[in-house]
Amino acid sequence: MRVPMIAGNWKMNTTVSQAVALVNEMRHELNEIGNIDKVVCPPFISLSAVGELIKGSSIKLGAQDMYFEERGAYTGEISPLMLAELCELVIIGHSERRQYFNETGEIVNRKVLAALRVGLKPILCIGERLDENEAGRTAEVVTGQLRSSLVGISDLNGLVIAYEPVWAIGTGKAATGDWANETIGLIRRNLAELYGKEIAQRVRILYGGSVTAANTSEFISQSEIDGALVGGASLKSSEFLSIVKQTSEIRG
Ligand code: PEP
Repeated sequence: MRVPMIAGNWKMNTTVSQAVALVNEMRHELNEIGNIDKVVCPPFISLSAVGELIKGSSIKLGAQDMYFEERGAYTGEISPLMLAELCELVIIGHSERRQYFNETGEIVNRKVLAALRVGLKPILCIGERLDENEAGRTAEVVTGQLRSSLVGISDLNGLVIAYEPVWAIGTGKAATGDWANETIGLIRRNLAELYGKEIAQRVRILYGGSVTAANTSEFISQSEIDGALVGGASLKSSEFLSIVKQTSEIRG
């Protein structure tokens, strides 16, 4: 009942011409794959060019971050209104933003609120660090991040959540399918407590952390996992296409 989603987070990779080349390599094949939402999230400066290339196709465009104010004297920032003209989704609270740019739960909450206000669909990232995982604090950390991110949000329409254990991101050490499924189940139970079971069943929750073509089926075959947020592997067209195709086949 939940349409699966595979979103590629290109992070701070690709110049504009490289982004155009990458999307050109895969857009025709990606466009043909059904039963699934396919999202590419290039750097801000490539959103327009990539957006032009996928216009009219089934591929969706996402940004990797945004500021929470709509306009004003915030030199260098990108506003939700600017993004809403270009794309449908926006990644919010990625662990790299939390870790390197000191994004707190309060900032993440303001960004989620601001995105929803202008009709952008947030991909809200939550996940525990290695030390928290090893201390057995995963449930506490993930629950805390989820609840602080959703303060003041009454309507979850459009919201996508990505469970991304920090220790699995970019490390090549993916979580196991069972671990991700269990933690995503916990996230869904929290949503049910906050918003009711029916709404919780409608929210898509992705897994992210070293997903590749080789381990996709381990995650996608799990009952609670609705897709993946893919970093490194989304920069190789053949790899990304394989992840999307496998997901469409398993869940279609
Ligand atoms: C990410 O950037 O969200 C991510 C999951 O990266 P990677 O797939 O490279 O671990």
